[in-house]
Amino acid sequence: MLEVENLAVSYGSIAALRGMSLRVDAGEIVALIGSNGAGKSTLIKALAGLVVPREGDVRLHGVSLKGRAAHERARAGIAVVPENRRLFGAMTVLDNLLLGAYARSVWGRAADCATDLAQVFHLFPRLRERERQLARTMSGGEQQMLAIGRALMSRPQVILMDEPSIGLAPKIVHDIFEVIRALREQGRTILLVEQNAAASLRIADRAYVLELGRVIIEGPAAAVWNMESVRNLYLGGVQE
Ligand code: ATP
Repeated sequence: MLEVENLAVSYGSIAALRGMSLRVDAGEIVALIGSNGAGKSTLIKALAGLVVPREGDVRLHGVSLKGRAAHERARAGIAVVPENRRLFGAMTVLDNLLLGAYARSVWGRAADCATDLAQVFHLFPRLRERERQLARTMSGGEQQMLAIGRALMSRPQVILMDEPSIGLAPKIVHDIFEVIRALREQGRTILLVEQNAAASLRIADRAYVLELGRVIIEGPAAAVWNMESVRNLYLGGVQE
């Protein structure tokens, strides 16, 4: 579904990605873990077309996205659930969801998006209850649900999630991971960037561990979970 080949991104003299290669197959959750500054957010930005790589390529269904702007990538099927949600705070929950469908619908016509809205409301009943509420007045967990719902409204081929659990209470983190698991059961394809390595490895099919802009470990999530070096560095030495 999504292939990243030898991607290099620099911010001035700082090399954030140094020849990164990975793939996400259809219908799987791939976890990307790594410490602060490993390059996780930069990878998401490069995939979304928000930073321009110095080298390398990204392909969706075998088609190169080189030179494609962020809005073209969104139309091609790449949806982002950005770090810190990035909702339109002064707009209602419903309008945020409809904006997610902007690229493929006539703006403002909820009827065009009725099926997708029904699916999102089924997954997140709270969003239906609060559809007229301003996004900025929703709780942190509700805002995260809205950010995921907005991504789903674009009928994505692949969903890139950047730290969906950040800043949320443990109970809400658990709920968000359950939602991600449910999305996989629907056959969705997800690249999941997380500092919460334990929770993301529990639900992922495969995982990549990044360090200083490179992949240092890759494999089935269960195998990565069992590696002593990963446990010591990223899982706080958990034994299970
Ligand atoms: P975190 O988990 O802390 O969010 P990360 O793995 O997402 O980290 P990135 O945010 O991708 O890491 O950063 C990778 C490297 O690029 C870091 O050294 C960071 O300081 C640097 N970097 C990121 N954004 C910029 C920027 N806009 N200008 C300069 N350097 C940047």
